[in-house]
Amino acid sequence: KLSDRLQLLLEQVPAGSRLADIGSDHALLPVAAVKSGRVPSAIAGEVNPGPYEAALRGVAEAGLGAKIAVRRGDGLEVLEPGEADCITIAGMGGSLIAAILDRGQKLGKLAGVKTLALQPNVGEDILRRWLLANSWALVSEHILEEDGKIYEILTAVPEGAEAAGTNEQLYSGRLLAGGKVALDQALLLEMGPLLLQSPNEVFAAKWQGEISKLESILASLARSELEAAEEKRSRIKLQIKRIAEVL
Ligand code: SAM
Repeated sequence: KLSDRLQLLLEQVPAGSRLADIGSDHALLPVAAVKSGRVPSAIAGEVNPGPYEAALRGVAEAGLGAKIAVRRGDGLEVLEPGEADCITIAGMGGSLIAAILDRGQKLGKLAGVKTLALQPNVGEDILRRWLLANSWALVSEHILEEDGKIYEILTAVPEGAEAAGTNEQLYSGRLLAGGKVALDQALLLEMGPLLLQSPNEVFAAKWQGEISKLESILASLARSELEAAEEKRSRIKLQIKRIAEVL
């Protein structure tokens, strides 16, 4: 059985897609996607030898060698342009995912891709910023907790595609639950414009946790007399205020 994290990611893959899972490790996602009939075939990309071997084994053990191609290479390099219409990338930092997409785009590997389903472990803001700068519009954002860790799943389609809003709508101030409005683009990028619109308990817990972390930094800085500490204190206080305002 897939983890809740990978199951939720799988649910973002449009049925019938030609799927490419990059950084696939044991190929759990493509195996589950093909086995369940959600997609007819898939590509699993891996750059590192250990995980590449694990992906080959996972596919062979599932008896899906004819339907899942395991390829060794860096990021989207393993794809021919036009070969995939949905790309999943999970379990890495947002900056690494953004770098993989950026390089892939420069190599023309995103042409024809209709859906990006991404699960950054950290650095979600960096990834949202990349999507925004490269005209990908978020169509859903999910947040879940599993084994004491919080994960976000961001799904994006090319801006202008059917069912996509525009990034201008996404980032020019969101009407939040409770009628509040967030106007601060940096904060929307950090917290997620769609998550902010319909926050769940996990979202609240994540950002309450962030506030607690900032408050303890503030408490330790309170003991410092340095001028730089004063500046840092006001920056942290402002950040706490920005988050608290929209929670
Ligand atoms: N996607 C799986 C998941 O979410 O459970 C595996 C996540 S694992 C923590 C990250 C994987 O990404 C590793 O197997 C690593 O080898 C692979 N990886 C890191 N950078 C990569 C790159 N540039 N291209 C392809 N794979 C990469």
